[in-house]
Amino acid sequence: MRKSLDVILSAQSLTKRYGTAPGYVAVQDASLELREGELVSIVGRSGSGKSTLMAMLGALTRPSEGKVLLDGVDLWTLAEVELASFRCTEVGFIFQFPSLLPNLSALDNIALPALLGSTLDGPAAYARAYHLLDRVGLADRAEAYPDHLSGGEQRRVAIARALINSPRWLLADEPTGDLDEDTEAEIIDVLEELHATESFGLALVTHNLELARRATRIYEMRQGALVSTDLGDKAVAFEQWTCRSAPAEIRLRQELPPASRAPAPIPLGRNLWPVIQTFLLVGVIMLAAIMLIDFGIGRYQAVQVRERLARTATLQYLALNSLRGDVQSIADLGDGRYGLTTYLENVSGGQPIFVLSPDLRAYVQVGTVWQEVPMQSADESAGGVLKIEGKQTYHYVFDARVREFAQLLPNYMHVRFSGRMLVSPSSIPDDGVFERKDNYYVYLKPFGVPDEMVSTRMRFSGKPPLWIPMPPH
Ligand code: ADP
Ligand code: MG
Repeated sequence: MRKSLDVILSAQSLTKRYGTAPGYVAVQDASLELREGELVSIVGRSGSGKSTLMAMLGALTRPSEGKVLLDGVDLWTLAEVELASFRCTEVGFIFQFPSLLPNLSALDNIALPALLGSTLDGPAAYARAYHLLDRVGLADRAEAYPDHLSGGEQRRVAIARALINSPRWLLADEPTGDLDEDTEAEIIDVLEELHATESFGLALVTHNLELARRATRIYEMRQGALVSTDLGDKAVAFEQWTCRSAPAEIRLRQELPPASRAPAPIPLGRNLWPVIQTFLLVGVIMLAAIMLIDFGIGRYQAVQVRERLARTATLQYLALNSLRGDVQSIADLGDGRYGLTTYLENVSGGQPIFVLSPDLRAYVQVGTVWQEVPMQSADESAGGVLKIEGKQTYHYVFDARVREFAQLLPNYMHVRFSGRMLVSPSSIPDDGVFERKDNYYVYLKPFGVPDEMVSTRMRFSGKPPLWIPMPPH
């Protein structure tokens, strides 16, 4: 799953201001380079600008100044569609809250970004989703809905979802912030293991000093400024920021800078409380609005994905199970030429099936390779769309004058007919088309070998048959 090496995601002098000019400066002149495969950690107080920096790195928000370069190319000079592709395939995000879609199973949640972004087709997306679910230790919970998963399990699903498109970089913004210590340790182990094997670069915002110290490089955000650090003796100060299990009121207080670190004591005026109340109210309203929008989008996406999955599943079933095909007969036309009749049979019990341009090729095994031999359709109305009702036969003529053919069965050629066809429940092909591939194998008696000679090496009751069907393999 590894993409090409040594591509660098580089943040150059990023500044982000919120609000109208001059605005509130959340990040100021931050520079950072992220190589594939490395682990960079970012620590810092709440409100210091860590999430804003991550959002800029992942092109979720546009910097007010500075550039984000992907292998030297300024992301914000790209067309919107290329930028969307970058967000979808080059970076994966894990946020503090897992934000899984509630009405999709764990597996569907993971496969979703691949299906929506069309980066993988249905079967491939689900195969990778299963693989990742297994990697995060939840192979047996594929069908579980987020409501029935613990916080840690939801986090694992979110990690797997972030990796579905095999991104070069994973941007994890306090991925364990709200978990208890044991669960946090488990999630960290999962992340580390995946980081080691899937080779993505990991930018990790964390309060967990132990985890931060495992990084190749450590940065600290200080009031919007990004500075390199080795964490030194900051343990005590950083530990104070950890607020995972504290009640809300205490948490609020802890997020304020400790008095000893403030430049000057701030006198708490009498008017402060109404201001805080207004802030809290606005915050609650914004949160409710975000949750509502999120819920709406979630439902919409879920319905879309479900519909799409159901359509694909029906189509696959139709193409693979309702349409039977095989070799019906082979006739010897002399001189190494043969007539082949294959059939397709609609066994759906009444549902129309349309087949678009079936294309069949013939191969004879020579040594360990398949050598293609000339074959033409012998039907007048070959090609185009055909409605299959009952049994439909197809006729071909092929030329199997091949020397030195492999003899899996003494004196017989090993012949393969490979077909591709587009199957649809409708004569107007839109997205409801499934490509089916068939392989039929037979043993075929070659021309110019007398029956007596064939019979010396194998026993047949009567004449050696012209062809012997083989089971699919
Ligand atoms: P951190 O992740 O370190 O807690 P953030 O990047 O979330 O910090 O926020 C940095 C500062 O920018 C905070 O003071 C926050 O209130 C402010 N901020 C973040 N997002 C917005 C926004 N969309 N609009 C206005 N201010 C914002
Ligand atoms: Mg944050």
